[in-house]
Amino acid sequence: TRYYTITDYPKGTPERDLFTLREEALSELGEGEVRIRNRWLSVDPYMRGRMSGAKTYIDPFELNEPLQGAAVGEVIESRDSRFKTGDKVRHMGGWRDIAQLSGDQVEPLPSIDVPEQAYLGVLGMPGMTAWTGLNIIAEMKEGDNVLVSAASGAVGSLAVQLAKAKGGTVVGIAGSQEKLDWLEARGVKAVSYKGKDAEQLTKALKEACPDGFDVYYENVGGDCLVAALNNLNVGARIAVCGMISSYNDTEVAAGPSNISMILIRRARMQGFIVFDHWDNYSRFLEEVGPQVAKGDIDYEETVEEGLEQTPDAFLKLFTGANKGKMLVRL
Ligand code: NDP
Repeated sequence: TRYYTITDYPKGTPERDLFTLREEALSELGEGEVRIRNRWLSVDPYMRGRMSGAKTYIDPFELNEPLQGAAVGEVIESRDSRFKTGDKVRHMGGWRDIAQLSGDQVEPLPSIDVPEQAYLGVLGMPGMTAWTGLNIIAEMKEGDNVLVSAASGAVGSLAVQLAKAKGGTVVGIAGSQEKLDWLEARGVKAVSYKGKDAEQLTKALKEACPDGFDVYYENVGGDCLVAALNNLNVGARIAVCGMISSYNDTEVAAGPSNISMILIRRARMQGFIVFDHWDNYSRFLEEVGPQVAKGDIDYEETVEEGLEQTPDAFLKLFTGANKGKMLVRL
């Protein structure tokens, strides 16, 4: 197998050199194990947290060991009666070409008629995150005005569409004209954060939605959060999904200067980790899966080719080079 590892925990934005490609012969397949040829690797912002060396809600990556991440592939050898050669599966043995895992760590792909890599994006962890944040954490209701940051990404692009289907005004913050156009084409009012300070962003959001927001789906933090707080309605709910603007910070970021808006607007702000809600995954698939299969929900993918591209694909998440789900195809 060929796999990526890191030899040190990075400070600030990780350098490309940090990622080392290694090759190792796999041991003979043990009883209960499955060998998988990976076809699609997922790279996700949360992986940056696992490179910090500290335990958060998940253990840090171990130095010099294969990195981990979601992947979809095909079983090429099995000593677990639940899997046979040719089965399409999903597992966490990403950042490598061949994965060898206990069958307990492997799951068959659901059978909805979508391309297999959709189970890493719109119908996988990011999609489930969007659905959970909106419905369970923010308790979005029909007609709520919703603001989403990183709105054209894997999570954001589903969040805006699910929100849009419930009728209110939906505003998405994104970083490039192409992304803004994609959002506008789906009836989402799109606002760029580039070149704007918190005050200018506050004003742009007010223009996009003068009635204010009942829900803020937070993916970015920093000035996006400050501007969102300035535009909350009474009783608003903020689902804190991520704060990608600070993941590469070397110093602790200052809190939002206007946090008192939570009090003034009697708002609720709640963080969540999607894995705590995974028992709802089949409900999510039942609800969203058919809409994706029919094309009623759109999703974008940015695909990098070849295992060697995995570190670059990961780093591009922090420059906004991806539209929709960032994937590596092997
Ligand atoms: P995305 O596909 O949204 O990719 C990241 C995007 O974030 C980029 O394309 C870029 O878009 C934007 N971005 C990057 N850096 C900045 C910055 N400094 N300021 C503003 N925008 C920035 O990734 P995901 O959809 O996978 O993840 C979105 C968020 O959801 C992340 O914060 C992630 O950590 C979080 N998450 C949380 C989970 C949970 O359980 N709580 C689970 C999964 C994801 P642009 O061009 O618009 O700047």
